[in-house]
Amino acid sequence: MRFIDRDEVARRLTYEACIPIVREAMIAFSRGETRGAMGEAAPFGAKLISVFPDNFEKGVQSHQGLVILFDPQGGAPVCVIHAGEITAIRTAAASAVATDALARPDASRLAILGYGEQAETHARAMGKVRKLSSITVWGRSGDRAAAFAERMAAELDMPVTAAPDARSAVAEADIVCTVTSAREPILKGAWVRPGTHLNLVGSSIAGPTEVDNDLVVRSRFVADSREGVLNQGAEFLNAKRAGLIGDDHIVAEIGQVLSGEIAGRRSRDEITVYKSLGHVVQDLASAWALFSQTEGP
Ligand code: NDP
Repeated sequence: MRFIDRDEVARRLTYEACIPIVREAMIAFSRGETRGAMGEAAPFGAKLISVFPDNFEKGVQSHQGLVILFDPQGGAPVCVIHAGEITAIRTAAASAVATDALARPDASRLAILGYGEQAETHARAMGKVRKLSSITVWGRSGDRAAAFAERMAAELDMPVTAAPDARSAVAEADIVCTVTSAREPILKGAWVRPGTHLNLVGSSIAGPTEVDNDLVVRSRFVADSREGVLNQGAEFLNAKRAGLIGDDHIVAEIGQVLSGEIAGRRSRDEITVYKSLGHVVQDLASAWALFSQTEGP
């Protein structure tokens, strides 16, 4: 049985590799053809993950675990892969896929709310689908936001600045990524200007919400999984509970936008939202590529 450790995932699962993998996986998912997308001989698999938000304080990944692949012929386990690293990369790759489909073609100013692991991976991934001119970051600690800005400016060789509050962070943004463990809204719809695209990533269970009802109501709202968001999309469920929207507010799954079945952005002024809960097809497609290809993927 093969073991693919964290370093190998980080080295081989580049954004250039992962973005098309996730794109194809989400199209296949929305068509109900997930197995087929990975090929006839593709293994089936599972993801085991623990989530410890307090690990951030200790500099340890909040999501840790394993992706396991099984041989479809005889059912034997064939590969175990570091799930924390796959999660960090595939989540940002999925947001990049959605941004490519939904943001304005000339979107260049990125705002990131949060400065943890997903903030880093999102800062790296967004530049693969849009020509970024600057990044603004906000988080609860000004010092940590400043440290993140300094680190990422050096790595990405572009202006990265820390904003004093979330409102000013998004004021000029074309693309916003919310990647915090906040339990109550940190972002209001009133602060978001027309034409912005947002990836809402930080809340992946019913409960914690990163944005207010107003933003949900004002947006063209696209899900990674319709069923997932109907059950666990906290921001969507809050607005629905308040009687402001119905289930039809989810206009599409991202796979339906990518395949051309349903329109994404319809005007320059529209606010588009991609609600990311994360889906195991993203992990398994990435894992399968790492397992089945010796170089790359
Ligand atoms: P980290 O632990 O690395 O970072 C968490 C970030 O959230 C830090 O910036 C932290 O900073 C901030 N934060 C925590 N509490 C609050 C608060 N109340 N208000 C504002 N900011 C807060 O986590 P990750 O980057 O790995 O993950 C970020 C979020 O994304 C998590 O909630 C995670 O569950 C989710 N996630 C979603 C996935 C998906 O597929 N949709 C996949 C993976 C993760 P500070 O404490 O200093 O404020």
